[in-house]
Amino acid sequence: MDQKYVWDLTSLFKSDAEWDAARKQVIADAPKLATLKDSIGKDAKSMAAALDQISAANRVAEKVAVYAYFGYSTNTRDAKGQERWTLAQALQGELGSNTAWLAPTIQDLGAEKVESFIKAEPGLKNHAFGLRDILRRKPHTLTKEAEAAVAAFGPVIGSMGNIHSVLSNADIKWPEVEVPDAGKKTVNQTGYQGLRQHPDRNTRKAAFDAFWTTYGQFANTYGGTLAATVNAGVIDAKLRNYPSAVAASLAANNIPESVYRTLVAEANKGLPTLHRYFKLRQKMLGLPDLHYYDIYPALVRLDKKFGIEDSKTLTLAAVKPLGNAYVDDLATLVNQRTMHVYPGEGKDSGAYHWGVWGGQPYIFLNHKDDYDGLTTFAHEWGHGMHSHLANKAQPYETSGYSLFLAEIASTANEMFLSDYMVANAKSKEEKLFYLGQALEGLRATFFRQTMFAEFELATHDAVQRGEALSGAKMTEIYCDLLKRYHGDAQGVMKIDPKYCSEWAYISHFYRPFYVYQYATSISAGIYFATQISKGGEKERETYLNVLRAGGSQYPYDLLKQSGLDMASPAPYQALVKRMDAIMDEMEKLLN
Ligand SMILES: [Zn+2]
Repeated sequence: MDQKYVWDLTSLFKSDAEWDAARKQVIADAPKLATLKDSIGKDAKSMAAALDQISAANRVAEKVAVYAYFGYSTNTRDAKGQERWTLAQALQGELGSNTAWLAPTIQDLGAEKVESFIKAEPGLKNHAFGLRDILRRKPHTLTKEAEAAVAAFGPVIGSMGNIHSVLSNADIKWPEVEVPDAGKKTVNQTGYQGLRQHPDRNTRKAAFDAFWTTYGQFANTYGGTLAATVNAGVIDAKLRNYPSAVAASLAANNIPESVYRTLVAEANKGLPTLHRYFKLRQKMLGLPDLHYYDIYPALVRLDKKFGIEDSKTLTLAAVKPLGNAYVDDLATLVNQRTMHVYPGEGKDSGAYHWGVWGGQPYIFLNHKDDYDGLTTFAHEWGHGMHSHLANKAQPYETSGYSLFLAEIASTANEMFLSDYMVANAKSKEEKLFYLGQALEGLRATFFRQTMFAEFELATHDAVQRGEALSGAKMTEIYCDLLKRYHGDAQGVMKIDPKYCSEWAYISHFYRPFYVYQYATSISAGIYFATQISKGGEKERETYLNVLRAGGSQYPYDLLKQSGLDMASPAPYQALVKRMDAIMDEMEKLLN
């Protein structure tokens, strides 16, 4: 591999030995953090000194984790690398247990005292948001003994997701199907993901039948593990005085429940647009009718290659609406060995961005020189530039942003890229390809994730009403949703009841009320990108200031101050409108 395309980690640590020395220093210092408990409430100066020490230790531990994870994910088979990653995680645990006193101690001091400290001591400025956030959670915090007991049971409750994964990936013997020109293929997780987009319809149907029937056979067990997770969420919400599990979950980032409810309501209002897409898909694929197994094959094929240098050039051109400073920064970053570009032996799949405050962003890719690779490049650099801007504008303590904001910059960049590619396409087919990709992305990220979000709401609501949850009940709930979202009653798509066991496949359900943020993020990303494309400097600066704000405010408040109320229908309607506009353009090209 050309070294140019392998990231240079020396800005983190010069060597593994230096990494290990830093790690050991944090371990040696960790017990000192526990003793800060006695001095933190003494006066404002002591509080600032204590919090600065904790920040400093966390910063090093993060750097240790980032470096170790980079090594691990680029070569998962290396035993030394695995060990470093395990040690880095243990270090986080070590710091966690030595600072577990912090929140209860601050809450015991009370708002009045903490506020007087913040007022008196400029050194507490960077810590003020975190301190106030701890105080905000006090009414939902249990006694120290109860918190310790709940925390001790955490791994037991968390194990449901592991059971789901072991059952799916190790215990179940997945069936085989006959694939034309390829022989017998196993329809396991990877097999299914490949076969669902197979151009031959019978193959897709066979894969769907085999895969979902198998999930259906284990619906009782999957129902048991998922019901346990749902129950745990409902119990936790009750213990902590929240009106519902969804409210409790959203409270972590101070997001009103109305955001979730509005998203679900607006996705339902937008279903005619989703159904219009399905009908267009049926027409473009030339099918007599439409089934659930017809969703994944590409509408148009494009054999164009996009190498990594193309990805750089095209992304830089596409994000021009974000201004010269943004483009210049990005141009510098993509050329200074910030990326691990190509797939390799033992390298983890997928793509991600990570980095540390005060350092450059790093991007992990598996660039395959196709359009998907280009889109991923633009997406990940959306994350990279978000962190870059937040890190420059914020102190360490408020630089990190929550997941509610995290996918806004990445999806906005995807939209800029898509629009640029459509505008510069050389043929009708090429244009149709980019439009089709954009449309499918909106379906999968907005409608599908909201359907999952609605499923989570329905299962938690059922438990809150005192109903028992079983695999059969979940299949029933999921079937209703599948039919509604895919227009079964309107004759858009027939949903075979066999496929209603799909809920058992979704591992995200073991992290309740998480996926809705993909749908809200893409809506916000498209909202901002549309404003910028239509507007000028003011719209651009409003958006860039959202990125620069990092985690200095609660995400809902930050967006609202920037003119975007995520509890209002506007962002979701903007997304649905974009889908309609894309289809208008496609239909014009097809006629
Ligand atoms: Zn992302």
